[in-house]
Amino acid sequence: MLTRKLGVSFFWCVGLLGLVLLFPKGVVAVEIDRISGSDRIETAVEVSKKGWADGSDTVLLSRANAFPDALAGTPLAYQENAPILLTQSHKLSDATKKEIQRLNASNVIILGGSGAISNDVESYLEDEMNVDVERISGSDRFETAALIADRIDANSRAVVVSGENFPDALSIAPYAAYRGYPILLTLKNDLPDVTKNRIDKNERNYVIGGTGVITKSVENDIPKSMRIAGSDRFETSRAVAEAFPQGNADETYLATGLDFADALTGSVLAAKTNDSLLLVEKNYVPNPAKLYIAEKRLTKFTVLGGYGAIDEYVDTEVSLPIQLLLVNKQRDLPASYVPEKLEEPDVPFPFDYEHNKRKMNIIAVEHLEALFDGAERAGLDLYAQSGYRSYERQKRIYERNVQEHGEEYANRVSAKPGHSEHQTGLAMDVTSPEVDYRLVEEFAYTDEGEWVDEHAHEYGFIIRYPDGEEHVTGYKYEPWHLRYVGKEIATYMKSTNRVLEEYLR
Ligand SMILES: [Zn+2]
Repeated sequence: MLTRKLGVSFFWCVGLLGLVLLFPKGVVAVEIDRISGSDRIETAVEVSKKGWADGSDTVLLSRANAFPDALAGTPLAYQENAPILLTQSHKLSDATKKEIQRLNASNVIILGGSGAISNDVESYLEDEMNVDVERISGSDRFETAALIADRIDANSRAVVVSGENFPDALSIAPYAAYRGYPILLTLKNDLPDVTKNRIDKNERNYVIGGTGVITKSVENDIPKSMRIAGSDRFETSRAVAEAFPQGNADETYLATGLDFADALTGSVLAAKTNDSLLLVEKNYVPNPAKLYIAEKRLTKFTVLGGYGAIDEYVDTEVSLPIQLLLVNKQRDLPASYVPEKLEEPDVPFPFDYEHNKRKMNIIAVEHLEALFDGAERAGLDLYAQSGYRSYERQKRIYERNVQEHGEEYANRVSAKPGHSEHQTGLAMDVTSPEVDYRLVEEFAYTDEGEWVDEHAHEYGFIIRYPDGEEHVTGYKYEPWHLRYVGKEIATYMKSTNRVLEEYLR
């Protein structure tokens, strides 16, 4: 079967516990496990089997198809050393019933009112399964969260998240649970009294998520508040992981940030094993997660959920997080991102002054040198013109273009700060004497341009903005802009005629 990432499949081999990726010299092997069932209810059961192999006295039970009552559940589950299982509203799901029996549980805590989980389910548990049932249910999600908080051992710290959506609650769940902080909910524009009363006397209240989900004025109503946020759910997930480091750096859980169930049930396991949890997209590992993985040198992952929730290509992306950074008009890098190590490749430049643009991310340097050797052997006159560009420098370039030509033109020819691929240090603009060392389309028709088009992939580079792909890449043809992705991936992309946006989704 031809898959989009066939190019890297040759160094895959199957290990005992999951997929172990073996890499060429200098690259760490990455181990990826996956916990999944045929749906969210069965995935929850698999999580429970993994974390509570010997059984559990207590189980938390939440509705499978709606998140509000469950958002605050993880800290209680962790305190009770209990898995969170899911059920349909009106009938106890079979897989869940069997798991409660396997666990030999004698207590079930239902999260939410009879509208969420019916009284029929409650009586079935009591009468047919002989377990004690406690129901935690307020008049709304905010009160339910406060009632759950009341069940948690006294703590002078708490977290406040949006009750209107799930991502930020799930990002914080394992970290809050591990520390015994209850999770309280708020509206975007209004702090409910029931929440305020619960956190009023705390010495610290963490507000999770940006001003798009919890306004500044709500933050001001929260005493002793400290906000932890990124510009979207994925950046917030990374910010949370950084703010609350878990003890075990050896395992990282990955859950979809687009649905609540797998991250909810998996978050108790992450808390139990004192590991981190990162939110990712279905078929793409967002840059914040990639940067975190690279920075912490994470090599062991457990994916929560089936291939429908997170596809199999996540393996390649967490294995090569920097090499596969995707930076374009939609996806950016933080202002603070600087490649871990920059170095000047030993290749000719048409100028001889010192400048950061002579440098590249160290992982690309020897490959660019090899490409230039190849061009030289072919009797060509190839020059490097511009490599690494800092966020600050991109900001000046963009602002100058806006000033001189207007915003529309500036957007077409230059990237907004954070959106330039040159900030990765993996890009190098190349040119030749025939076009006076300029970066122009005519370069494509020179001997050097033709050779680069034909051979760059052999050295791990792609022509990042090919002719006729502006509608996908957002940029007009740039035959001079080379981007390092590694030989296997570059070769695969060349043979299938794909641009990076298509390869990474
Ligand atoms: Zn460029």
